[in-house]
Amino acid sequence: MMTLPALEVLRPASVEEAVKLLASHPHARPLAGGTDLVPNLKYGMYDAGPVIALRGLSRELRYVREEQGDLRLGALCTLDQLAKDPLVTARLPALADAAAHVAGPQLRRMGTLGGNLCLDTRCVYINQSHFWRNALGFCLKKDGSVCHVVAQGKRCVAAASNDTAPVLLTLDASVRLVSPRGARLLPLADFYVTDGVKNTQLAPDELLTEVRVPQRALGMRQAFLKLRTRAAVDFPALNLAVALRAREGVLESLSLCVSALAAKPHVVKGLDDLLGQPYGTARALGDELGKRAHKQCRPLTNINVDPEWRREILPVLVRRAVERALA
Ligand SMILES: Cc1cc2nc3c(=O)[nH]c(=O)nc-3n(C[C@H](O)[C@H](O)[C@H](O)COP(=O)(O)OP(=O)(O)OC[C@H]3O[C@@H](n4cnc5c(N)ncnc54)[C@H](O)[C@@H]3O)c2cc1C
Ligand code: SF4
Repeated sequence: MMTLPALEVLRPASVEEAVKLLASHPHARPLAGGTDLVPNLKYGMYDAGPVIALRGLSRELRYVREEQGDLRLGALCTLDQLAKDPLVTARLPALADAAAHVAGPQLRRMGTLGGNLCLDTRCVYINQSHFWRNALGFCLKKDGSVCHVVAQGKRCVAAASNDTAPVLLTLDASVRLVSPRGARLLPLADFYVTDGVKNTQLAPDELLTEVRVPQRALGMRQAFLKLRTRAAVDFPALNLAVALRAREGVLESLSLCVSALAAKPHVVKGLDDLLGQPYGTARALGDELGKRAHKQCRPLTNINVDPEWRREILPVLVRRAVERALA
């Protein structure tokens, strides 16, 4: 049995207090639902430091509201709440669907939107006990100097495994980040980086407090799809989202994002030539996008599901997602 190391738990009562604590404790980590942080602490993946429990911030950070046309989601909304919220299910059905496909019911009731977007990357060589990793000589992500996925690799390619991220990326969402220096709004497209050791731009003393989805994205045709070994309680072997706007069969906007590949969710590039064009049938558009995604996406052995098979199934998933979005 893996046990939790002795931890200091600090309990701020406001965002302001929380970021001050983060700033004054260099190894501190925010604890939201704890559904990822706690297992990782048990695995010994982090240097010991206090955890900053965010539960006392629920009144400040747990809301879904429309403001100036945008939809604003507080970071402490639980995934269960997002999956059922009438505004989210009506305006952002793909987000509600993604939230409903995270883990299992108990974890969704504890797990939060902020925790999901800041989820640590995953790899079969890191999400293991300290004993197991020690036997292998550790790896770049923690305590070692090699990567077991990409031989000679200089950068960790552990997989971004958060299910809400691809959806929010296709919807042009931004995140509000607060530190003792003030608040900044960052497009989610700039939030993730390609380093699996730490795959976000979040500074050590910053807290993600809000997700904003712009008015233009609300009501877009959208869909989320996830490949996983078991239909319950499994991280994605692949996940993807599509969002588009079409009028009289002509595409006005189009975005596709595929994740669970490497550290950064991949927004499929080079789709602009399809805009202003009739797309024909949902199947034809799905097949075309599937071909482009297949060319750009190369799953790795960071997940315990055959990467070649994942690559070959990807166009099928893309087509199904497009058909679902246009249904
Ligand atoms: C068995 C199991 C299955 C799972 N399956 C899935 C799955 O299918 N899909 C999926 O996406 N996830 C899955 N998860 C992971 C997890 O449950 C979810 O991602 C959940 O949304 C994490 O949210 P949390 O509030 O519990 O985060 P926490 O565990 O509290 O935090 C996660 C990380 O984010 C940081 N953090 C949390 N909140 C903030 C904030 N507001 N600002 C800055 N940093 C913050 C923490 O410091 C930590 O590094 C699974 C977990 C388990 C145990
Ligand atoms: S991708 Fe490489 S460096 Fe990163 S966790 Fe896996 S084995 Fe370690």
